[in-house]
Amino acid sequence: MSTDLPAAVDVLVVGGGPAGLSAATWLGRYQRSTLVVDSGQQRNLPADRAHGLLGRDPTTPQEFLAEARAGVEQYSEVVLHHGAVTALHRDEAGTFLATVDGAQVYAERVVLATGVRDRLPELAGLHDHYGTDVHHCPACDGYTARDRVVIVLGSGEQVPAYAAELLDWADTVRIVTDTTAPAFDEDQRAVLADHGAEVVDGVAEALVGAPGALVGVQLTTGELVEGDKVFFSYAHHPANHLARDLGCELDHEGGILVDGFQLTSVDGVYAAGDITAGLQLVPIAIGKGAAAGVACATSLRGHPTNGATPAPPTRRFTTR
Ligand SMILES: Cc1cc2nc3c(=O)[nH]c(=O)nc-3n(C[C@H](O)[C@H](O)[C@H](O)COP(=O)(O)OP(=O)(O)OC[C@H]3O[C@@H](n4cnc5c(N)ncnc54)[C@H](O)[C@@H]3O)c2cc1C
Repeated sequence: MSTDLPAAVDVLVVGGGPAGLSAATWLGRYQRSTLVVDSGQQRNLPADRAHGLLGRDPTTPQEFLAEARAGVEQYSEVVLHHGAVTALHRDEAGTFLATVDGAQVYAERVVLATGVRDRLPELAGLHDHYGTDVHHCPACDGYTARDRVVIVLGSGEQVPAYAAELLDWADTVRIVTDTTAPAFDEDQRAVLADHGAEVVDGVAEALVGAPGALVGVQLTTGELVEGDKVFFSYAHHPANHLARDLGCELDHEGGILVDGFQLTSVDGVYAAGDITAGLQLVPIAIGKGAAAGVACATSLRGHPTNGATPAPPTRRFTTR
C-alpha cells in the first residue's frame, strides 16, 4: 500500500473491504484516477474462513484481501492507502474535500464502502473463539453447525427467527437470553417450543473449552449450558459518520440509501457493501461495489449508466 497521497483524484473510495476494492477495480478499468483509503478493519477478519465465494470456497479473509489488493494494484490509476478519512465535505465549487491522515485530498466523486461494526458479547474467551466456533451470521457459518448443538445468545425481538433459521442446520438450538430482564413473551416462547428451541434464562459469562472444541457457555450462576457452537445476534453499527456529514439519506437502521446504481441521495456520492441495506455477504458487497464503480466511472464522462444521451463531461483529475 502506498504512503504517498495524491492531492486530487477523480474518485475517493473510503473503505478497502470487498465493496471498496471491487469499486476500485472497475474505476481502474475505466482509467479513473482513484484513491482507496482503508483503515484495515474488514468485518470478517476474525473468521478462520470466508465461505460462499464462487470459485474460492473456502478461502481465508486475509488471502482474499491480499489477492483482491494485488488485482487492484495492476491498475496504475488506483492508489491504495492505509489510513483513515476523518472528514469529508463538499466545497463551493462542488468538489469533495477529504481529510486523510491529516492531509487534504480533492475528489470529483466519492464511493463510501465503510461497512459496519459488530457489537460483540461480553464473554471471557471470546477473542480466542470468535470466527472458529462463535459466529454471528447464519448464512456465513450455519453450514458449519450441521447436526451440532448450537447456543444462541440474545434476547432481541429478532432472536426467535434467528434461532429458527439456525435449525436449518443444527440438531438442537438453545437460546441463552443473556440478560437479567424478562425476555420473550408467552407467544414467542410457545413458537420457539414448537420449533424445538430451548430457552435458558441467564447471563452468559464465559466460553468453556478450547477453540475448535467448545464445551459450552458458563452462566454467571455457574451453570454450564452445553453446546458445540455459539451464534449471537446483537446490534451492529453502520460506519456512517461521513455519510451523515455529507447529508446522505439513511434508512431506519443507519444504512445509506442508494438507487439501483448505488448512487446515494447526494449527487456524486455512491455507497456499496454492508453500509447499504440488504444481505451482508462478501459476494453481495463485491457486486454492489462493481455497480458503484461502473456507475461512478461513467458519471465522470457525463453520462449515467442508464442514460441514452451523454451529458457534457465533468472536470477530471489524473495521476498519470
Ligand atoms: C465473523 C464474520 C464472518 C463472516 N463470514 C462471512 C462468510 O463466510 N462469507 C461471506 O460472504 N460473508 C461473511 N461475513 C460478512 C462479510 O464480512 C461482509 O459482508 C463484508 O466484509 C462486507 O464488505 P464491506 O466492504 O462492505 O465492509 P468491510 O469488509 O467491513 O470493509 C470496510 C472497510 O472500511 C474501512 N473503513 C471504515 N471507515 C473508514 C474510514 N473513515 N476511513 C478509512 N477506512 C474506513 C474499515 O476499516 C474496513 O476495512 C462475515 C462477517 C463476520 C463479522
